[in-house]
Amino acid sequence: MKACLLRSVAPIEKCPLDFVDTPGPQPEADQVLVRVTACGVCRTDLHVVEGELPPRKSPVIPGHQVVGAVESTGSEVTRLKAGARVGIPWLHRTCGVCEYCRAGKENLCDQASFTGYTADGGYAEYTLAPEKFVYPIPEGFPDLEAAPLLCAGIIGFRSLRLSGIQPGGHLGFYGFGAAAHVAIQVARHWNVHVYACTRDARHHRLALEMGAVWAGETADPPPAKLDAAIIFAPAGEIVPAALKALKKGGTVALAGIHMSPTPPLPYDLLYHERVIRSVANNTRQDGEDFLRLAAEIPIHTEIEVFPLREANRALNCLKNDAIRGAAVLQVQ
Ligand SMILES: [Zn+2]
Ligand SMILES: [Zn+2]
Repeated sequence: MKACLLRSVAPIEKCPLDFVDTPGPQPEADQVLVRVTACGVCRTDLHVVEGELPPRKSPVIPGHQVVGAVESTGSEVTRLKAGARVGIPWLHRTCGVCEYCRAGKENLCDQASFTGYTADGGYAEYTLAPEKFVYPIPEGFPDLEAAPLLCAGIIGFRSLRLSGIQPGGHLGFYGFGAAAHVAIQVARHWNVHVYACTRDARHHRLALEMGAVWAGETADPPPAKLDAAIIFAPAGEIVPAALKALKKGGTVALAGIHMSPTPPLPYDLLYHERVIRSVANNTRQDGEDFLRLAAEIPIHTEIEVFPLREANRALNCLKNDAIRGAAVLQVQ
């Protein structure tokens, strides 16, 4: 099969992904083999390729927003049949027995594996996943448009939940990439007012087109005090600006898996019971709840499509804020 293989981490400008022919994988007993049609490109992929996340498998095939059809199944697979359309998310497998798994917090599992990081992912014509960790894709979403739902969508949704935002509330988005452009649609559905704080003019326009009440620079104070904020950008220096924009008792949720260091925080910014919390991975429940809601709203994803062989270029565009909405690889 054709695949984009990461042999050693490097800045994306050096094109570290090799487009190669490699043997196709075979499913183990509880796995499905998926013929990949589309794979979303996520900032986490950039962190994997550039080594901001320490390598866990090498070489590795990145990609964790995978859409495709089940090609074949392992001997213990019962629910899915060949031909079923499925999505494979970041949360690849959990242990099911650690204290977090038993407490319904499998996103924090001690032994979790992750698609496109500790297990090969979807920048390839075929990939594997455990049956219990793949989702049916709701009808009505073409494969390419469904791909960004699987991480940008699910993690954005979990971030909204953890921000504690309520209907009618005022919510700040710091950064307006793939996750924010999906999350704003959920927020609007909940009658939440969204303020987009981001450095890129194209992202200002997209936010306003999608129903933000205001768009401005990262450090500009929004015209209303915020009940909550979500920082999508991987930049710790944004945290003080977001705290400054919050009402008393408000929460800043940090949606990224990696962030540059946060500068020293004057205690005034945090006082009055403001909360900073990170968002880590997702549970299967988040994925199921989000995909149901995505079909109900329905969510529309803005996508820029790249051929699989141009994964380096897609990641380079993402790094330079040059994607409107989400980048997606068309695999076959
Ligand atoms: Zn566990
Ligand atoms: Zn992701």
